[in-house]
Amino acid sequence: MKKRSILISLSLVLIFSLLALAGCSSTQETSGATEKAEESKEQVVNLYTNRHYDTDEQLLQSFTEETGIKVNVVKGDSDELIERLAREGKDTEADLLITADAGRLHRAKKKELLQSVVSEGLLENIPENLRDEENQWFGLTVRGRVVVYAKDRVNPSDLSTYEDLTNPKWKGKILVRSSSNLYNQSLLASFIEINGEEKAKEWAKGLVENMAREPKGNDRAQATAVVAGEGNLAIMNTYYVGKMLNSSNPEEVKVAENVGVFFPNQDTTGTHINVSGIGLTKHAKNKENAIKLMEFLSGEKAQKQFAEGNYEYPANPKIEPSELLKSWGEFKTQNINLSKLGENNTKAVEIFNEVGWK
Ligand code: FE
Repeated sequence: MKKRSILISLSLVLIFSLLALAGCSSTQETSGATEKAEESKEQVVNLYTNRHYDTDEQLLQSFTEETGIKVNVVKGDSDELIERLAREGKDTEADLLITADAGRLHRAKKKELLQSVVSEGLLENIPENLRDEENQWFGLTVRGRVVVYAKDRVNPSDLSTYEDLTNPKWKGKILVRSSSNLYNQSLLASFIEINGEEKAKEWAKGLVENMAREPKGNDRAQATAVVAGEGNLAIMNTYYVGKMLNSSNPEEVKVAENVGVFFPNQDTTGTHINVSGIGLTKHAKNKENAIKLMEFLSGEKAQKQFAEGNYEYPANPKIEPSELLKSWGEFKTQNINLSKLGENNTKAVEIFNEVGWK
């Protein structure tokens, strides 16, 4: 009898212990589940970007402060980010892609990496010519591809158009980077759109004949070569002049101070422009947050800061450019939809190969 009662008490202890343990573990499970629910409630947006400026980081921070949406940023080379998006497919974490050149944004669209966005705010902020025809990407900042000249050797009154750069008077005087560069491909793509294939080819051929040297180096290297006396004129993007003027490298500052900025084709078809822009990825998991960030970046407050960080022109026409850009004067731009730069890219590359633009 005694033995039995001990056994019963032992069993009871065991049962209570088991119950207690079960209770304990079930509380742990509950708290784990709560944590997970809270995590999934945290509002985020994941951004792949080729931009790497402090001002962009400040901007994203103020977006988080305003909306409570955290922005996770993956920085990388433009083409690598596009390849990564393609490789990741529907498993990608990226909700947004920011990259330079309408030609490249078009490439992302053609690879079916982007999707159309419905947003009145975006349509209001970004003019029609600076966005994709199906609203798959939107320009955020604008740059001009201009002519810079040696201030000590060239009278700007001798400059007029891109076409004039093929005039024999500039033989051996023109500096420009390789045709493998997308900026040049987009430039030629714009000429195909505006003047037709034949004229575009004539231009490319004429320019090769006037080159000061075989194409090498980036845009900045062309300005450096102008100041070093290798040639008199260079084709380059406006923001590089701004960056060089404000560089911590005194050599770059000196180069920028010795070149003048000229906007070609002011009496004819306008200066070639391009954009750095943003697109919503096809498999975005945080679509609403992503569109909020797109709207924020195209808005007045962000545009001012966004453009100033890289000496670019704001895409939103309500915003004035920075003082430096204003000092270069207003200019007439080409009047084409930038989607055409992507559409004409293959043809442009073909022409470059045909005329031997290295
Ligand atoms: Fe660039």
